[in-house]
Amino acid sequence: MTSVVAPDVEENPSTGGSLHSISSCSCRICQTSKSREDLISPCNCKGTLGKVHLSCLERWLNMCGREYCELCHFQFSAHRSRRYGLFQSIRVWMRHPRHRSLLASDIVVGGILTLVTLGLCIVCAMGLKYFVLEGLKVGIPGFWTEGAITFFLSVIVLGYLATLYLMLRDHVIPWYRWWNRCMVIKLILVPEVDPPPRDLNDSRIV
Ligand SMILES: [Zn+2]
Ligand SMILES: [Zn+2]
Repeated sequence: MTSVVAPDVEENPSTGGSLHSISSCSCRICQTSKSREDLISPCNCKGTLGKVHLSCLERWLNMCGREYCELCHFQFSAHRSRRYGLFQSIRVWMRHPRHRSLLASDIVVGGILTLVTLGLCIVCAMGLKYFVLEGLKVGIPGFWTEGAITFFLSVIVLGYLATLYLMLRDHVIPWYRWWNRCMVIKLILVPEVDPPPRDLNDSRIV
């Protein structure tokens, strides 16, 4: 049975993180202190859970997509920016084999649909006069034949446009959601400024 160890949280109502260089402990994420990077205490956790490398913490927050400590729920001051620009994100998205094969199959289907729709439109436009004449022979007024062909063409074109829209939506929406999730989280930490050493000459008795 696993047990959850509650973090040792220091009640510190300060609003921002601070940089404390603590080189004698290890990072709670990479479990090492050998990095040349200083350890910091960016949240209210303390003890062995309180020290972390800034790069390790940022990597972890970027993986999780959040801006708070998962232990003490301290909200970090962070700057979010998109990892990829518009065109770069499309290039990265299309590098995935599954996305490429889906798009390729949809392009083939879209091409066939376009050819069929165009063919029907051309046949109807060119054969309209013939259909009207044939209709008149069996007693169907010309405007009824024209109306029926126009209605048929409208249904074909609308179905074609709706299919294209649905196919496009199936590609655009997952890409757009992924693009919005690809953020770079950079923590904004204010370095703790050591108080200036007291000038012994100022400690004169007034
Ligand atoms: Zn680390
Ligand atoms: Zn914490």
